[in-house]
Amino acid sequence: MLPENNAPIPRGRTLPPEETLLSVRGLQKIYRTDSGDVEAVRNLTFDLGKNELACLVGPSGSGKTTLLKCIAGLLEPTSGDVILDGKAITGPPKKMAVVFQEYGRSLFPWLRVAENVELPLRNAGVPKAERTRLVDEALENVGLAEARASYPWQLSGGMQQRVAIARAIAYQPEVLLMDEPFAAVDAQTRADLEDLVRSIQKRLGMTVLFVTHDIDESVYLGTRVIILSSSPTVVQEDLVVDLPETRDQLETRALARFTELRHHVYEQIQRAKRGFRPDVTSVR
Ligand code: ADP
Ligand code: MG
Repeated sequence: MLPENNAPIPRGRTLPPEETLLSVRGLQKIYRTDSGDVEAVRNLTFDLGKNELACLVGPSGSGKTTLLKCIAGLLEPTSGDVILDGKAITGPPKKMAVVFQEYGRSLFPWLRVAENVELPLRNAGVPKAERTRLVDEALENVGLAEARASYPWQLSGGMQQRVAIARAIAYQPEVLLMDEPFAAVDAQTRADLEDLVRSIQKRLGMTVLFVTHDIDESVYLGTRVIILSSSPTVVQEDLVVDLPETRDQLETRALARFTELRHHVYEQIQRAKRGFRPDVTSVR
């Protein structure tokens, strides 16, 4: 069922503990540099549920990458906590994988596609037979079974990014973090990769946090959009995407509700750029 035209946009709800997989609590990150302190993230608090595909948008420099690095345990927060399955994260968690924007730099050029996908499993000590099965499945899932023996540099940008996605899902993460993963591919490839992420997320039942600066992409992909303020960053708004679960590049994007949601997110980001910030105590 589609919401009525101009129906109020639902806000993210507070999840009960049993539905929560990941919690970001009062996260602050200050970079100490030679030329002084940079407070990239001031106070971020939100929860991600199991099997949720949440998009995170915010102006450039608002701390999206900083936040992902803190969640991935690659960067230590200045204060606050990231809690996964009830335990505070202190280093890279086993059940988490990250896909970065620069796929070109994230794949090893001297390893074949299948070897690139296998590497993290090898590092994690997964036995050979199991590794082979997981690599085959992951490559199958991203439609790259044929390219397993190729080198990354023999593939197009979109295919390289699919290798990076395969490497992440072969690892069977509970949480998949994606940092503007499709920013550098052409529009058609991007649309295909968006649908790929949705179908894999559904099939494998992962929680995905997808960072993008593309407003349309955030509304098309997400079950929820978390909008960040400009730096020093707080959560400006957390909204539910009340579009039908089945998304289609042409049909979904042609819905009046799609336009309303993207309009709303766009306005919020414009406000963020103008320096508006909510009183964080009033945002959950
Ligand atoms: P986004 O991904 O939203 O564009 P970032 O997380 O990359 O934002 O950066 C947020 C802010 O923190 C920016 O002002 C950026 O210049 C600053 N910053 C990021 N990384 C570092 C660093 N290693 N040292 C100092 N400042 C940094
Ligand atoms: Mg970034």
